[in-house]
Amino acid sequence: MQIKKINLLNLNKKNLKKFFLSIGETAFRANQVMKWIYHDYCNDFNKMTNISKKLKKKLNSLAEIYAPKIINTLYSSDGTIKWIMQTKSQKTETIYIPEKKRNTLCISSQIGCILKCTFCASGQQKFQRNLTISEIIGQIWRIKKIFHKKIEKNIKHYRKITNIVIMGIGEPLLNIKNIIPAINIMLDDLGFGISKRKITISTSGIPSAIEKLSHKTDVVLALSLHAPTDKIRNKIMPINKKYNINSCLSSIYNYLKTSKANKGKITIEYVMLQNINDNIQHAHQLAKLLKKIPCKINLIPWNQIPGSYYQCSSNIQINNFFNILKKYNLIVTIRKTRGNDIHASCGQLTGKNKKIIHKLNI
Ligand code: SAH
Repeated sequence: MQIKKINLLNLNKKNLKKFFLSIGETAFRANQVMKWIYHDYCNDFNKMTNISKKLKKKLNSLAEIYAPKIINTLYSSDGTIKWIMQTKSQKTETIYIPEKKRNTLCISSQIGCILKCTFCASGQQKFQRNLTISEIIGQIWRIKKIFHKKIEKNIKHYRKITNIVIMGIGEPLLNIKNIIPAINIMLDDLGFGISKRKITISTSGIPSAIEKLSHKTDVVLALSLHAPTDKIRNKIMPINKKYNINSCLSSIYNYLKTSKANKGKITIEYVMLQNINDNIQHAHQLAKLLKKIPCKINLIPWNQIPGSYYQCSSNIQINNFFNILKKYNLIVTIRKTRGNDIHASCGQLTGKNKKIIHKLNI
């Protein structure tokens, strides 16, 4: 009978050490193997030159290093790239967004999304499951390997991936058990060695998970607020009926107290939906709501999704909204839409083309 191999991408340093101890090796082996995996992008034990023949044989029989595989690559005219990746059972999506000062990889955390925000394509896809640690970390591994080895001919200018945003398909804080170890690997010097200020979790706001996160790790948090009142938020984000604006903001406020990654300010995301949340009164309500929360507000022009009755606010409306918030001395930016031509923008990710409408079941 063939035993199921352990995928080492599922193990953060602590667990990788435990694994080596459990097979009669020293914990130091974890350091060596992590370096091979995350610094050299090596997934072949036979190529790990500082490991004995005997251990190579043992590892080949007990373990594997397996990341999701790329099955399709889409290139936007603005330099954004979207990869459709195949996990062992389903597909997921990862996006690369080059900018002047940083180059960001946007990764997914779940297959489908249970939250069903009414303006988001990911929510129209049936929720299937959480991504495993190896599927989360494997998205980064797969793409960073391409950049490290410069193996993709269609990429003209290879630039260093500087930032990771967990903003793809799914709600990361509903998969906190896998997100935290995956973040450990992103932060670890023997892993990807990314600074905590360059890793962002975008969340619809799950207070108990935010509390848990504050005890376990420190990264940048972005709250998808999208409405100045519970009445509006209930309509566009059903999760608000469970965790209202106040409960989200107060858990974020507590997170800020212990976080260094956020430099004392939380990011608030606000999608601009015509006649829904974008009038002058809404801007004043939002400013008053956020008066006591140290934050940066990111206004996001809504990206079109097929079959939706929403419209993006006009540029004039977005600018008016922006100017009102500015008058309150709030820090506000307007997000530039990227990768729209390949459906790689916020809220356009589905992992597949077929549209499935599903009941909310939180
Ligand atoms: N579940 C997480 C992360 C995934 S969505 C969250 O809610 O934050 C990433 C961001 O894109 C969120 O702010 C989300 O509200 C926003 N978004 C979703 N659909 C969008 C669309 N069609 N246009 C613009 N932004 C969208």
